[in-house]
Amino acid sequence: MVPTHIRDYIRPASVEEAWNVLAERGKGAKPIGGGIDALLYSVPETTAAVDLTGLDLSYVRDEGGLAIGATTTFTEILEAEPARAFLGGILVEVLEKVASPLQRNIATIGGTLGSAHPWSDVIPLLYVLGAELSLFDGQASRLSMSEYFARRVSGERPLITEIGLPAEGKASACAFEEFSSTGFDVAVLNCAAFLSVESGRCKTVRISIGGTPALATRLTPVEEALNGSPLDDGTIERIAAMAADTIDARDDRRATAGYRRDLTRVGVSRCLRRIVEQLGGVE
Ligand SMILES: Cc1cc2nc3c(=O)[nH]c(=O)nc-3n(C[C@H](O)[C@H](O)[C@H](O)COP(=O)(O)OP(=O)(O)OC[C@H]3O[C@@H](n4cnc5c(N)ncnc54)[C@H](O)[C@@H]3O)c2cc1C
Repeated sequence: MVPTHIRDYIRPASVEEAWNVLAERGKGAKPIGGGIDALLYSVPETTAAVDLTGLDLSYVRDEGGLAIGATTTFTEILEAEPARAFLGGILVEVLEKVASPLQRNIATIGGTLGSAHPWSDVIPLLYVLGAELSLFDGQASRLSMSEYFARRVSGERPLITEIGLPAEGKASACAFEEFSSTGFDVAVLNCAAFLSVESGRCKTVRISIGGTPALATRLTPVEEALNGSPLDDGTIERIAAMAADTIDARDDRRATAGYRRDLTRVGVSRCLRRIVEQLGGVE
């Protein structure tokens, strides 16, 4: 259902033009990728939809790592060979669980970041893949995920133009675990982990938990505790317990804080064990 307060449909031909319209209209205009959330949650002051799909930002490119244009839909990513091949197929594993096939035909990766749902499956995954975001707010910049979300907290809403995923070496792997009531429900909690290994020890470690019920973040103290260790059973259980203690767990209508801590322990343990399997051992 299109909200009746949206009266103007604007389809700019360049990122600069899109930004100028948004800057000029303020709350009166909203950028839309697929439009699923932008229209669902728009406020009555918003009277214009600024469609970003004419900006030539729908692509998946193998540039050593991956470059994904902000208006690329989940289906387009799932069908792109470089994305399918990336890091053991982790993008396919996660994205094909997002919503329904019809929604994946519409939903864009930029829109998912713009919505910043706490239960998003995509945000923890992008965190652990070390994603960098190309942005435009009158001038172009490139920020890490943490830097981007910090800017949002201060009220800024730059346009996202591209998501960059760095190339990863052979001795690296990623795993994801989602906990939800049914396959279609959004997550009660989700968990993503990435590891690279050198001489039998964890080198680059990234762990992110989403739906605590707050927006996903990296668990930096837990990552630091794992860095430099082998990944044996004892270490996995110690790290999983530490993650459960570290998260900002709270109650909401989906789950209690205690249940979320239990899920975190199980999720981190499962992710690390799957990574060990993929790497053929880390000891
Ligand atoms: C029924 C349902 C089930 C769902 N299930 C899941 C699920 O299982 N897992 C999951 O992770 N998600 C799920 N989602 C969320 C879904 O992934 C998002 O609704 C979708 O990704 C939004 O994409 P969009 O392109 O339609 O965004 P839009 O609605 O176009 O935009 C969303 C927000 O981002 C802003 N925006 C859009 N593009 C940009 C840009 N390039 N730069 C800056 N801001 C931008 C918009 O102004 C708006 O505020 C579900 C949603 C629904 C409705």
